Amino acid sequence: MKLSRIVSNQPDISRKQANWLIATGQVYVNDLSCRTAGADVDEFAAVSVNGQTLQQGHCAHYIMLNKPAGYLSATEDDTHPTVLQLLPSALGQGLHIAGRLDRATTGLMILTNDGTWSRQLTLPGMGIAKVYRVATAYPIGPDTPQRFAEGIWFEYEQLTTAPAILELLEPTLARLTIYEGRYHQVKRMFHAEGNRVIALHREQIGHLQLNSDLAEGHFRMLTGSEIEGLN
Ligand code: URA
Repeated sequence: MKLSRIVSNQPDISRKQANWLIATGQVYVNDLSCRTAGADVDEFAAVSVNGQTLQQGHCAHYIMLNKPAGYLSATEDDTHPTVLQLLPSALGQGLHIAGRLDRATTGLMILTNDGTWSRQLTLPGMGIAKVYRVATAYPIGPDTPQRFAEGIWFEYEQLTTAPAILELLEPTLARLTIYEGRYHQVKRMFHAEGNRVIALHREQIGHLQLNSDLAEGHFRMLTGSEIEGLN
């Protein structure tokens, strides 16, 4: 929100007074005087005028979780456990999931309360790579990598998937990199090849890589450079 709006949202401060308070250096954002009325200030910043708090500001959280099978990518559910239940309840407050996984899928999941940041990871147009290890019911055909590179027709959406990279590891095991995140995308791509995914594990989203020593069901905070890596 613009700084002038945060200040003038106070019942006793008009828009004109807000601009004057800002221009005269009486408004502080995170303890620094800010004289730019049009500055964009997010909900994580503390804003005050002459020592009076207008906005508390709260901590931004950026969490990497190794999702086990059986947990829903949801904040609440009556029937199944959710990934939020793997976090201490105080930490889970207000978090959302940046890129859901199916209940049976395991691996890298990012949770945050910073929507501006997570949108850069998840917006389809951003073309962020998502890397999956895929185990299939039947041997993967020799032409499948080429067909995935050309794109697979999705009848329901009436579109062809963006070029994807399929690296064969074993006859029924592969690493797939996709640059979008359509509903059940990996399963549907293999289904189009007459195959079936029997296990799916996300290893990476963009520059964020799941640590091999992060056990299933465990989480850690992202580092500063992992967070900054998106900006
Ligand atoms: N594609 C799928 O089919 N399932 C997932 O969980 C993620 C990608």
